[in-house]
Amino acid sequence: MNENEKKNILVKSGRIIDPENGKEFVSDIYIKEGIVAGIKENIKAGKDDIVKIDAKGCIVSPGFVDMHVHLRDPGFEDEETIETGALAAVKGGITTVACMPNTKPVIDSESLIKYILEKSQNAACRILPVAAMTRDLKGRDITEMGILSEAGAVGFSDDGKGVADSRVMYEIMRYSTQFGLPLILHEEDRFMSEGGLMHEGHYSSMLGLEGISGLSEDVMIARDIILARKSGARIHITHLSTRGGVEMIKKAREEGLNITCDVTPHHLFFNDSYLTSFNTNLKVKPPIRSEEDRLALIEGVKEGVIDAIISDHAPHLDTEKNTTFKLASFGTIGLETLFAAAFSKLCGEEKMSIPRFINLITVSPARILGIDAGKIEMGKTANITVIDTEAEEEIKRESFISKSKNSAFIGQKLKGKIVCTISKGKLVYRSV
Ligand SMILES: [Zn+2]
Ligand SMILES: [Zn+2]
Repeated sequence: MNENEKKNILVKSGRIIDPENGKEFVSDIYIKEGIVAGIKENIKAGKDDIVKIDAKGCIVSPGFVDMHVHLRDPGFEDEETIETGALAAVKGGITTVACMPNTKPVIDSESLIKYILEKSQNAACRILPVAAMTRDLKGRDITEMGILSEAGAVGFSDDGKGVADSRVMYEIMRYSTQFGLPLILHEEDRFMSEGGLMHEGHYSSMLGLEGISGLSEDVMIARDIILARKSGARIHITHLSTRGGVEMIKKAREEGLNITCDVTPHHLFFNDSYLTSFNTNLKVKPPIRSEEDRLALIEGVKEGVIDAIISDHAPHLDTEKNTTFKLASFGTIGLETLFAAAFSKLCGEEKMSIPRFINLITVSPARILGIDAGKIEMGKTANITVIDTEAEEEIKRESFISKSKNSAFIGQKLKGKIVCTISKGKLVYRSV
């Protein structure tokens, strides 16, 4: 019998992480027909109809939740599809993905939400759509948030653009309070960032590349905190990249505002000195910032100001990246390296505890989206990731299974390797 056809799975002797309670313990997990049926030591199973996974020395985590992913489907299926994006996700240990609405057409209607949900029925992991805040991401007419949330949207975002008009943004915030879903905000003053290619600072001057000031992000964060204070909206600042942003969010939280935020592994890993390589895979938005900003983001994670880590997986064709720095598209893929890149920095270098780190990619993003995910629970469908935290690997272009290969991490040595992923109750990925 083929491994994938077997109905039952036994994960033996792993160190199980309970990120919700910050605990870890050694145990077996028995999965019967996709459902978690036993969490205890020495589970005996000798039958033929079972896949055994030796997790000794590995950590066993709830499947990861990545709340910010571009699947490019519909419209740009040559870069990624729901199917290939889901396969890349499970290779990265991710079993729940929230996908962004900047597709073609934009996910701004009930029918597009249904398209995503129906097409992802057979995908390797769970896929949940984030709907646009404004029609066609034009920043003018607000979408029908009630209908979209009924249809299954888990949040609203004009990611990739942001909303320039403060009056529209305020209206969106006021309207959104009726639905309880988060507004996921891409903070960029496009008048200020226009024409910019990388972070504005010492290295942009040195390289002669047009800069994107950290202020272009900070002014929008400041505006949105002010609007959220007045409207009572639940806002989530995504891909935070500046020290100023961390400080403002920290203050707003101390004041009691309902505001959360996330960061990407690439903003935790790199600083703008890496841009001297002119590696177009490091051309991202917001840009890779200064070392001062990077350290503030690390501190923000350690202090608990930053709630989640996201990939902002942004697939692009080779033709969009194998060009001059000026012409190259913004974005890096990130699903397959989410864990290892963030783990290498936060647990490897910064010695953060593993349960606390796992919290940032499981229960915490699940809570922000208001979804049931990021836990291993008896009687529930199994979504589990087994990780060898000691394994070290150099990231190679050939190893990616995403349709696009534009990874900022190619050539980097990362710690932590996904051994296998159980998603929707099935063993969907196993490393060789
Ligand atoms: Zn964005
Ligand atoms: Zn994005």
